[in-house]
Amino acid sequence: MKILVPVKRVIDYNVKPRVKADGTGVDLANVKMSMNPFDEIAVEEAIRLKEKGVATEVVAVSIGVAKAQETLRTALAMGADRAILIQTDDEVEPLGVAKLLAKVQEEEGAGLIILGKQAIDDDSNQTGQMLAALLNLPQGTFASKVEVEGDKVSVTREVDGGLETVKLNTPAIITTDLRLNEPRYASLPNIMKAKSKPLATKAPADYGVDISPRLETLSVAEPAKRSAGVKVADVDELVAKLKALGVAA
Ligand code: AMP
Repeated sequence: MKILVPVKRVIDYNVKPRVKADGTGVDLANVKMSMNPFDEIAVEEAIRLKEKGVATEVVAVSIGVAKAQETLRTALAMGADRAILIQTDDEVEPLGVAKLLAKVQEEEGAGLIILGKQAIDDDSNQTGQMLAALLNLPQGTFASKVEVEGDKVSVTREVDGGLETVKLNTPAIITTDLRLNEPRYASLPNIMKAKSKPLATKAPADYGVDISPRLETLSVAEPAKRSAGVKVADVDELVAKLKALGVAA
């Protein structure tokens, strides 16, 4: 079984985002970029399934600028077998990404497509669900456990107040939650090896997909600044202050 893993290049999760002065978006100039953390979990899960002998090939796919190659090389260094970059300088919305991934799946015929549950830049949490709809495939979102049994896959899902397990027929779409696994770091020899693994570069037009935007961003703003705190000497002073604020009886 082949596994397809879409990976997005996003602003690194350790970087504090700065909003552009004109409020049109986040300033990405000279900012460290990395693989979306949920996608690292997706790559890790796919590689583990390959190590268990369940998967035969892991293919990483990214849609984005030329530098998204680095993200794909990271996936290859972790253990993916080959990569596809659908290169564009345009920002591609989740529907456009899902349409492109649907075309890739038509060519690749993967048994599983494992995506992150959300990209930490746009926080959309839409692509996996849209892809499942476009391909008319079953989906197990927010997975904290994945078990492949023959042509079925059991997905334990993190839902409000508990866990839900669903059994899906493959091919299926899975989106990863934080607790699914802890992604490995690529070793230096594997980083070197990844340089010679195949990476195909395509364009959205190769797939006949129109990626023009459907959404307009009206404004982007930073959260309101928190006002400074006050240090208190002891519990009595704290209680007195809380009473004065009306938050303690
Ligand atoms: P989103 O719906 O934007 O929150 O993204 C959910 C997931 O879809 C991500 O974790 C990725 O697995 C995948 N994805 C979104 N955008 C891209 C992209 N440009 N290239 C590859 N995968 C993507």
